[in-house]
Amino acid sequence: MVDWRQNVYNRTLKPGQPRVKIWNSAGLLLTYRCRAACSFCYYSCGPDKDGLMPVEMAIGVWRSLRDLAGQKPKIHLTGGEPFLYWDRLIEIIRAADTEGLGPVDMVETNGSWATSAEIAAERLRMLDALAVRTLKISCDPFHQAFVPIEQVRTLARIATQILGPDRVQVRWTRYLQSPLTSDMAGYIQCIREYPCRFAGRAAGGLARAVADKHLDQLQGQNCLGYLLGTKGVHVDPYGNVFIGQCSGIILGNLKERPLEEIWSGFDPIKASLIRVLAIDGPIGLMGLPEASGYEPLPLYADKCHLCTDLRRYLVARSAYPQVLGPVECYQ
Ligand code: SF4
Ligand code: SF4
Repeated sequence: MVDWRQNVYNRTLKPGQPRVKIWNSAGLLLTYRCRAACSFCYYSCGPDKDGLMPVEMAIGVWRSLRDLAGQKPKIHLTGGEPFLYWDRLIEIIRAADTEGLGPVDMVETNGSWATSAEIAAERLRMLDALAVRTLKISCDPFHQAFVPIEQVRTLARIATQILGPDRVQVRWTRYLQSPLTSDMAGYIQCIREYPCRFAGRAAGGLARAVADKHLDQLQGQNCLGYLLGTKGVHVDPYGNVFIGQCSGIILGNLKERPLEEIWSGFDPIKASLIRVLAIDGPIGLMGLPEASGYEPLPLYADKCHLCTDLRRYLVARSAYPQVLGPVECYQ
């Protein structure tokens, strides 16, 4: 386990100042590909997207988290839809098990692959044998625009039989029996009941439908606290590391440096674009020379909506390619 002083920012702090927390969990995006294209997907996944995480990259994150946090790393496997690459999913879980790194904390799915009870049972038995702790099944009006609710019900039922109720999480159970309509009215009701962050695709039509804040209301909403306090990262199939759920803001790439080095070198007030977000919040991005010409929207849903909208503008102008990417997150 590392000492918190091994982080470059933490070494500059006076006693009592908030520090960069030690990362102890990671969501591995096996792919950006998905049969669905949910209106609230933070990573803008869909059938036209690609990428497949190599086994070695996934295992490298496990090892790094163990070195950072000194415990059994908390890893969840997600996407895109990880079951689209079933063989790779299993290869990764097995490799972690062989190295004594496992078990996997969670595998997330939209259930689109569970087209029959037999297929569902066969795969769930395999996950059971590999001691996957939790299967998380998405169930809300966004997902049900693409996956029939009957299929999700069947998957949830079989998963409960095979894995046991404590190892199955349906997000959200109430919509299993009483689904909302998969239209804007249903989406808005869902995010009122279970608020979401307006990043990725959620910063599109969904955010515009609920936007109620003028630009000046977002003044002073900076992100330093979030950047420092978040203990989890997401890693995409190309090795890009994002903090928390800030999709499309790259802290580093695993093809260049292992995760523990990205953590120890992470200084939220040194790096140019991230510094702006940390100190001034997304409204500060408007002051960047590359953002001149950005036309503010009449209203925003929250600061992440503004952040994503501005970053899209910057990405369209190829600005900050080391920090803003990959393009999959912005399409
Ligand atoms: S939210 Fe999940 S199911 Fe929906 S598009 Fe994104 S990855 Fe696919
Ligand atoms: S405003 Fe941007 S940097 Fe801040 S939390 Fe939201 S997505 Fe992340």
